[in-house]
Amino acid sequence: MKVKRDLQFDAIVIGGGIAGLQSALDLGDQGYKVAVVDKDATIGGKMIRLSKVFPTLDCASCITTPKMSSAAHHENITLFTYCTLGALDREKPDQVVAQLRQEPRYVDPEKCIGCRKCEYGCPVYVEDDEQGGFNMRKAIYIPFSNAIPQLPVLDVENCSLCGKCAKVCPTDAIRYDMEPEDFTITAKTAVLATGFELSPMEQKPQYGLAKLQNVVSSMQMERLLAPHGPYNRVLRPSDGKEPDSIAYVQCAGSRDESLGIPYCSRVCCMYAIKQAMLLSGALPLADITIYYMDIRAFGKGYEQFYQNAKAMGIEFVKAKVAKITQGDNQTARLRYEDQEGNGGVMEREHDLVILSLGMVPQWDPAGICSVNCGQDGFIQSILPKIAPTVTNIDGVYTAGVAAGPKDIVDTITEAGAAAMEAANYIKGLT
Ligand SMILES: Cc1cc2nc3c(=O)[nH]c(=O)nc-3n(C[C@H](O)[C@H](O)[C@H](O)COP(=O)(O)OP(=O)(O)OC[C@H]3O[C@@H](n4cnc5c(N)ncnc54)[C@H](O)[C@@H]3O)c2cc1C
Repeated sequence: MKVKRDLQFDAIVIGGGIAGLQSALDLGDQGYKVAVVDKDATIGGKMIRLSKVFPTLDCASCITTPKMSSAAHHENITLFTYCTLGALDREKPDQVVAQLRQEPRYVDPEKCIGCRKCEYGCPVYVEDDEQGGFNMRKAIYIPFSNAIPQLPVLDVENCSLCGKCAKVCPTDAIRYDMEPEDFTITAKTAVLATGFELSPMEQKPQYGLAKLQNVVSSMQMERLLAPHGPYNRVLRPSDGKEPDSIAYVQCAGSRDESLGIPYCSRVCCMYAIKQAMLLSGALPLADITIYYMDIRAFGKGYEQFYQNAKAMGIEFVKAKVAKITQGDNQTARLRYEDQEGNGGVMEREHDLVILSLGMVPQWDPAGICSVNCGQDGFIQSILPKIAPTVTNIDGVYTAGVAAGPKDIVDTITEAGAAAMEAANYIKGLT
């Protein structure tokens, strides 16, 4: 393994989602040199993978790509993608040291021109997680068309080593012998913006995710609704039929002690309402039902958004769904306790069911960083009311969903606050 350099920056941001990018841009604009580290092959986090965003229904890609591109072209920001974080801690008042590993892409970044000829030439097809697993990608691939950087990754697990990518590469950039490279970054301050993943549903087999083809996650539905989605329209996965009846199951991975996730993930009501509105535009004849425990429309303009959805004819049923099983004609059969109307246990079949999954932390700092986390696993603030981005480590801040579930508006606001705290910390050193 090659040992790389020790790089110096004013600030290091861990996570290149919308939170990390906003903190980096706010620091970079003030003249600080910033390193953004992401474990993914591209920056952009979850937001770049969404269809449209509540409450404005802006196209997610249209508002995220400019931020990604501003960070990539900023004279004070350096991106480190496909890098894993081995350790991060404060060593001196003016030194946070991060141990990093550049994972091999098996493509020379200096030579690659992003022409994708390697991808077109590759004969291996692999299920594409970026498209919810609904279509295929190649074994060497750029994650999606507006990924930054435009550099492919060779997926060694699935590569057949046929050599076709190397043969068609016009710049001789394929490096099958590439190795991981370790390096360190020393900075004065750090922002932890490691975001979230969806709540794990393996512990809830009664909801049928992965077992029933027409039960999908909310992130899969984002892809089905996206302009560059897998089918370019909404079709149910089992047979490609346009669904006539669609259901949302709320709190499918939140407020659920049995999953160890007792908290509310805050965005699921709103994203389900958003998706339901988009679906009623895409499939005007479809019946859309949202099974909910409580609707939490917490932000500015969100209650109005909810009322608009009701006015559009989306049905809201106050009920807790107990079980989803295979129905007739490939439908999913919901068994639920109706908490309004006639009450009692009811059953209904839908062509397509979406589970509104909650948020869990994407990063566990144990053994890597001494930052404190709460019982829910999210990074804890030591001053949650008056300085919510401040952690237990001097000059190390947190932003976005890394610190707890939140929507994009709150994520951006918090990222700006973390950048301001970080800038003040640097100023205080001199
Ligand atoms: C289905 C769905 C729909 C949504 N729709 C909306 C909407 O319409 N409107 C709205 O306001 N909000 C919406 N949200 C919420 C929104 O996605 C989040 O608020 C936002 O993405 C949070 O950004 P983030 O940067 O904090 O986290 P993320 O987007 O998760 O980014 C975290 C980044 O950190 C990186 N990372 C993680 N761990 C490490 C590590 N150890 N080292 C290096 N890098 C690391 C990840 O690779 C990722 O790039 C939705 C959420 C879901 C699940």
